Order: sequence, then structure tokens, then C-alpha cells
Amino acid sequence: MPLDFTFAAFDAFCQRIAPLSVFTLAEYLSATPAPTPPFVILRADVDYREPSALRLAEIAESCQVRGSFYFRHRIQKGDSALARLILRGVSRQAPAFNVEIMSNVASLGHEAGYHFETLDTCRGEFDAAEDLFLTNLAHLRASGLAIRTVAAHGGRPLAPTYRHNLDTFSRAPDLFERARLLGETTLSVDFTRVIYVSDAHWRWRRYEAYQPGVTGKPTSLRAIMDALSDLDVGLYINFHPHQWFASPALMLYLRARNRIGRRVLSPARTP
Ligand SMILES: [Zn+2]
Repeated sequence: MPLDFTFAAFDAFCQRIAPLSVFTLAEYLSATPAPTPPFVILRADVDYREPSALRLAEIAESCQVRGSFYFRHRIQKGDSALARLILRGVSRQAPAFNVEIMSNVASLGHEAGYHFETLDTCRGEFDAAEDLFLTNLAHLRASGLAIRTVAAHGGRPLAPTYRHNLDTFSRAPDLFERARLLGETTLSVDFTRVIYVSDAHWRWRRYEAYQPGVTGKPTSLRAIMDALSDLDVGLYINFHPHQWFASPALMLYLRARNRIGRRVLSPARTP
């Protein structure tokens, strides 16, 4: 098995799941009757480094599996205090959607979706966040992308008025209908029917009956692949493409640097 968080490891994973039923979120949410195990829901939250997402999309396509790739609208000058961090080089975000890469990913047969963080951008102001959400969605659709599902970006809230970007929908459940969306990647999934696995922060974690804010059990991609044939529920797996590299040495260096950075920034949350 190639080293985790390398393109070779992602390729091995895609080859392993290729014989199974693999769904995008949109396919899974619209499937009737509901899929029976074993099946896989393949998701990628593209926080930044969009070219890595395109590479993973190409690898998956070469194995004839399809997934959902969610892209951020990265913050523009003047949007918020975060914009100042971007301009000073503290954040790795750059402005706007990378529509070209989103279109390339979609053209490979994957689902391209919107990874939204509008409550963060609007500092917890719900009306402004909803307006921005709908504006960004309209922009993507006007660019030729059929956005059917969305994924909330995680992280700590930037104002006391909300706990998570998911609250956009908790506060306005009819937003799905008004925005012509099939669903959201957390709120619309029945987590009693799937095991959720995520590589967030370069650590694989496995969640039985996932809930936002709860920490899962440590695992590895190898363990996930080994357990596939024994699963009596679906596997819902979430990759963060910015953590995946062609070079094992570069991946190891950046992962170590990330862990040191997180320890400095957030000592109470680092095991
Ligand atoms: Zn994210």
C-alpha cells in the first residue's frame, strides 16, 4: 500500500472501491430505492490547492468512479477581516471560485458543488449570509455548473450568533427549496445508514452515527479499505485534496509543518 496522502494511495483506494457501487452525493440523495450496502459515497472538500482536486478527480475517473467535489468561494478584498489575512499572506485563500477547475472536474463526470462558508464571511449575520449564499450559487450556475448539493465548510465560528456554517440551513430549512438544491452533505444524510470517514487535518477518523463537533476514532486508509468487505452499512468518505501530493517527501514535510502549526495555534485541541 503506498504512503497515505499520496496520489498513489488515492489511486489504490479508487481501484479498491471500483467494483462497488460508488455514488456522488447528488446520486445518493436522489437514489430510489435507497442503496443497500456495500456502497461508497465519495466526497472531497476542496479548501484550497484546486489543482490537487483536479488530479484526484482524474485518478478517480481513470478508475471509473465518480465523486462530489466541493469548492470554496475564497474571500475577496473587503469581504471581512479574513480578507486582510489573505492580503497579508497569512491565509492561503485566493479570491473567487476557480470555475475553470470546477468545470474540468465536472467534465470528468464528477459532481461539482459549492463548499460554503457564508456565515463566516458575514461574521454571523444570517440575512447577509443567505444573500451571499444565493448570489454565489447563481454565479456558479450562470457559469454553466449544475450545482445540486452543497457542503458547509467547518472550523470555529467567527461570531457568537452561530455555531457552524450549517446553521444557515438550520435557521432557514426552506432554503434548500428556494436554492433548488437536493441537499447538504451533513444535514441531508442519515448517518445511521453510513459510516463517515474523514481525513480532515491529515488524520483519518471514523465516525459511527456522525454528528458535527464530535471527534471520531483514529483510523487509516488501509484500515478503511480492509474493512470494506465487512461493512453492513455504506461508507461515506471525505477527502481534503489540498493534503494529497504526488511526492511522499513533500507530503511528509507539509504534514509535519501543519501539525507543528496547529500545535502552536491551538494547544488545547491538539492530542
Ligand atoms: Zn472546508
